Amino acid sequence: MRNSKNISLVALGVLAATVLIAVAPDVLGLKAPNLDPTNQGGGTEALIPENESSEAEARVPGLIWPVGRANHDDVFLQLGPDSDPATGSWFDYECSPQFTYDGHRGTDIMAYNFRLMDQGVPILAAADGTVSWTQTGYFDRNYWTPYIGLPNGINIRHSDGSDSQYFHLRQHSVAVEVGDYVEAGQIIGYMGSSGSSPNPHLHFELWQGGVSQNPNNGACSPTPSLWLEPFDYPGHTDLTILDWDLFLDTDLTGVEGNNFIGDKRLKNRAFRPLSVSREAIQIGVWVQLQGLVGTAYTIRVLDNEGNEFARSAKGVAFSRSVQWHALYFDFSSVQAMESPDGEWTLELVRDSQPVESKTFEVATASTFSVRFFPLAGRSFKHLGAEIRDTLRVINASGGVNFSLVDAPTGVTIEGNEVVIRSTTGFLNRNGHFKVSASDQSGRADTMYYHVVTPSLPLQGVATSVTDIELPHDLRLEQNYPNPFSSRTTILVDLSRGAHLHLRVFDVTGKTVVEQDLGWRSPGEQSFNLEGGNLPSGTYFYEVRSLVGVVKGQMTVVR
Ligand SMILES: [Zn+2]
Repeated sequence: MRNSKNISLVALGVLAATVLIAVAPDVLGLKAPNLDPTNQGGGTEALIPENESSEAEARVPGLIWPVGRANHDDVFLQLGPDSDPATGSWFDYECSPQFTYDGHRGTDIMAYNFRLMDQGVPILAAADGTVSWTQTGYFDRNYWTPYIGLPNGINIRHSDGSDSQYFHLRQHSVAVEVGDYVEAGQIIGYMGSSGSSPNPHLHFELWQGGVSQNPNNGACSPTPSLWLEPFDYPGHTDLTILDWDLFLDTDLTGVEGNNFIGDKRLKNRAFRPLSVSREAIQIGVWVQLQGLVGTAYTIRVLDNEGNEFARSAKGVAFSRSVQWHALYFDFSSVQAMESPDGEWTLELVRDSQPVESKTFEVATASTFSVRFFPLAGRSFKHLGAEIRDTLRVINASGGVNFSLVDAPTGVTIEGNEVVIRSTTGFLNRNGHFKVSASDQSGRADTMYYHVVTPSLPLQGVATSVTDIELPHDLRLEQNYPNPFSSRTTILVDLSRGAHLHLRVFDVTGKTVVEQDLGWRSPGEQSFNLEGGNLPSGTYFYEVRSLVGVVKGQMTVVR
């Protein structure tokens, strides 16, 4: 399976179907991308790395965690590569069958829920390299079969000939194009659930000389770890509570299971009530966890005086990576209580010790907050044409007010539509803004937008590393005075009128000044930069229009 390049595609199809029947449903996560480049739809270049045996001696470069959130900060390591070369059996890099499945070549990093995916979980280049393949535009909200569309993805070729691959990205979130040079840590897209993916997750693969690489070191993967910073092997902990909360939905039938449950309510993080009616018949607690089979925990419900009202124990039953539990509690006896209103508590208990707790309010009625639904965020690729998106909310009490948060010029709201005009004031390729919805009772929710503008530079590109071509219509002259202490003048020569932006950053790439210079007419344009609060040192600056960027260097002397 490792040298899959030479296996006929027909044979692989048969194999996949056979395994599917035997081990379903997990093997459905085994995707075709590396096996069949012709199956990649709109990809811009062939995906399979060439077999460059002369370079196969060197291992791929050190890797950073390719997601913009740390392990267990709303994302977690779900599955690793299968270290067992045999077909029909599998074990992970520590020889356990729990955190991989047969033939899995990647490292899966999953977001806890689709709400987090909506907010934007950045995918980062794991090492420096040149983008050699991208695919974007496919549907990104698959929960369970039938999967719609192909995975959005990226291939980065590294200097030693190795490749890193990033799959299941959010629709239109791919911010890089073939030929772009990217540095480790740069945002190249956002996590999604495109292709055969039941949850928002990144499937990350490494290839060297046509052979899939396992970046982990363990008892069953003796090669040194390629990760620059190690992370915990999930099997070292018998139970990891990822997330949990109260819910009132009494019809979460079939809700429990592993990562292949199809329940959209849980996968979007079930609605938490603001208050629970004292006449509610039943309350529920859902738990999202990773654990070893047989591990148990208890949920206790404490009333408004701290007395135990109910308790229920649960054991881990599924031998797989991530799972959701649902525990129900009869609430009908609350009606007979004299004064049940007020703050109640949920306790998650292990070995007789409370490890986490949450409170909830009991009142005359159950209430929920206004919420963007079914999406709470999305990406758009902005090629110049105006974009419109309709805002949808539920649970609003009375009318809803929408307002823009951190939006640049060129983004407006008309009624219940967000409008991204043909020209915007975004400063770099990964542009962001938010929309806040608030209802009559003052409750609010946030919708997150990510706008990819290919003509703008990627954020955080170091000047010394990436050469962005100078456009013919924008020319920069040396600022004067230089060096300077409090104020300098920057000169730009424009062949056409353009909306300009200035960014000044220090030698570490940190932005220290950002300025919208507004619309400038053709000809020589000058503007002043106040640098009185900058420490002495060397700085770089960029002046950008929609079509290009020019760069300069300046020195502040105190
Ligand atoms: Zn995977």
